[in-house]
Amino acid sequence: MNNSLTAKERRHIAKVKALPCSVCNAPGPSSAHHYRQHSQYTCIALCYECHQGPKMGIHGEKRAWAIAKMDELDALNVTIQRLMEQAPSAEW
Ligand SMILES: [Zn+2]
Ligand SMILES: [Zn+2]
Repeated sequence: MNNSLTAKERRHIAKVKALPCSVCNAPGPSSAHHYRQHSQYTCIALCYECHQGPKMGIHGEKRAWAIAKMDELDALNVTIQRLMEQAPSAEW
């Protein structure tokens, strides 16, 4: 598996990071959580708490996720929806 990102992948990640949090809607910039390692196009936009917060985050006790009744695919759905809404179709 090649770890280096292509220019398009980097551009995609930058767009994801500009989004609000997909779980709690905290305004961006967010961090990009990889749903699957090395799969750059399934990144989820998350704020620090929903991402790495020890209690709230997906890498912790996932409490924000439980409160929002969301799992990673629900959050990915939100991230993709927001990307589609803001992207001029020519960029896809
Ligand atoms: Zn959040
Ligand atoms: Zn993560």
